[in-house]
Amino acid sequence: MDATATSAATVPTDAPTAVSPNGASTLIDALRAAVGPDQLQTDPDITAAYSRDMMPLAPSGIPLAVVFPTDTAQVAAVVKACAAAGVPIVPRGAGSGLTGAANAVDGAVTVVMTRMNRILEIDEGNRLAVVQPGVVNLDFRTEVESRGLFYAPDPSSYDWCTIGGNLNTNAGGLCCVKYGVTTDAVLGLEVVLASGEVLRTGRRTVKGVAGYDLTKLIIGSEGTLGIITEATLALRPKPAAPCTMVAAFADTESAGAAVSAAIRAGLVPSLLEIMDATCISSVEAYTGSSILGDGDTPAAILIGQSDAGPGVARREMDELERVCAEAGSTFLYVTDDLAEGRLLLQARRLVLTSLEVLGTWLTDDVSVPRTEMAKLIHACSEIANDVDLTIGVVGHAGDGNMHPTIVYDAADPDQVRRAADAFGRILDAGRALGGTVTGEHGIGRIKQDFLAREAGPVAMDVHRAIKRALDPQDLFNPGSMFAR
Ligand SMILES: Cc1cc2nc3c(=O)[nH]c(=O)nc-3n(C[C@H](O)[C@H](O)[C@H](O)COP(=O)(O)OP(=O)(O)OC[C@H]3O[C@@H](n4cnc5c(N)ncnc54)[C@H](O)[C@@H]3O)c2cc1C
Repeated sequence: MDATATSAATVPTDAPTAVSPNGASTLIDALRAAVGPDQLQTDPDITAAYSRDMMPLAPSGIPLAVVFPTDTAQVAAVVKACAAAGVPIVPRGAGSGLTGAANAVDGAVTVVMTRMNRILEIDEGNRLAVVQPGVVNLDFRTEVESRGLFYAPDPSSYDWCTIGGNLNTNAGGLCCVKYGVTTDAVLGLEVVLASGEVLRTGRRTVKGVAGYDLTKLIIGSEGTLGIITEATLALRPKPAAPCTMVAAFADTESAGAAVSAAIRAGLVPSLLEIMDATCISSVEAYTGSSILGDGDTPAAILIGQSDAGPGVARREMDELERVCAEAGSTFLYVTDDLAEGRLLLQARRLVLTSLEVLGTWLTDDVSVPRTEMAKLIHACSEIANDVDLTIGVVGHAGDGNMHPTIVYDAADPDQVRRAADAFGRILDAGRALGGTVTGEHGIGRIKQDFLAREAGPVAMDVHRAIKRALDPQDLFNPGSMFAR
């Protein structure tokens, strides 16, 4: 979302300020000088569009101003101006996040990075690319694929989220089981620090271990340590067209057993997704067609793919089919047909859209050991009964990262309370199974307590020490991720 700046900015009379009205006016002047009048907004009707991301339950405030820098020097000038005024900074990509991590705080300056959206270099000989953070993930993927290359991180929101947001949430997606998360595809970064200095981390070489790994420190820091202005990304050869397998199960335990057996058998599919009965029914109701043809709705389906190349991919999916059959699958199908494979995957991609027909959705994000996945799905169904709300479980079965999705009526305060209760209980259930409270969406403004409990006091002290060292004024995203 990038509203076009229309008018010369002034301090809006109703915006809360972290500084005096005079200080705010001086800051707005400094921001105008930093980015130019067309890249500064203070009109509350426009800045309101930048106050929240896609997490309905996270708190948000009203920014004093929103800026749209177009280069690193402008970002540095904005940061220096905010630091001089002692005003908080909220970095923002497309606002597709699911934790409130890009939500504004009252009186802050929101720095929207979507106009820094150029692919600066694609080096085919070294299989790397240099990009600005505002590039949309799918635009980048499409460009590198046109050169026979592949950028692996593929969040489901890839058609609108930005590389900068992906880096700061350490985003995952459907291909993580084989290719890992965002950090596994990053060689180096350029970051504007709270001092306004420009930090360069990492390298352009395949190997490189000089010094602390500052690249990995910044990745997943959710905009709390600096603003990423450039990234050097590792590319892979473009994989072969996938072979697809679908298996249905009469109970989730058998689906879970199939996943564990596939791991034990040494299979590494490029994708292995699970949908429970609630998700299957809602997609079928939404599309008006059955995913697997006629018959009863199964308790779960697994969709697997291999991109290992002609012959090998088919053998891998035949092996996955055998494993699923041994685990008690009631329906099995393997296809090399690309259109059929796409259709099956489309059913998986339609889960959130189809649940939306039933009400507001609230997607959780919890990762469990793969052997415990069925237990988590079972726990979600018990929680759904307790809170008397629909919860559909969809997830990345290959890596154990589940997205139980709660459906509720946002206009009913009691349902909102029950949805929030279910959200937390799912995280507790995941942790009790040896899991973690986020596999890819991050902590943001909604899971701070869960992070503190999972990480423990020593790790939280280390978090605070790092934050103080890099951002002593607590300028970047105050209140997000953990209490200072
Ligand atoms: C329908 C849907 C499906 C989704 N599917 C997935 C999925 O499969 N996997 C997944 O991981 N996520 C998924 N998400 C969540 C979301 O898309 C990701 O978290 C994504 O990485 C956010 O990118 P963004 O550009 O929207 O960032 P934003 O939401 O704008 O920001 C996210 C965080 O990054 C920070 N930030 C953004 N840009 C910068 C920068 N340049 N410098 C410093 N900090 C910055 C912000 O402060 C914030 O903390 C989904 C979301 C939706 C709505």
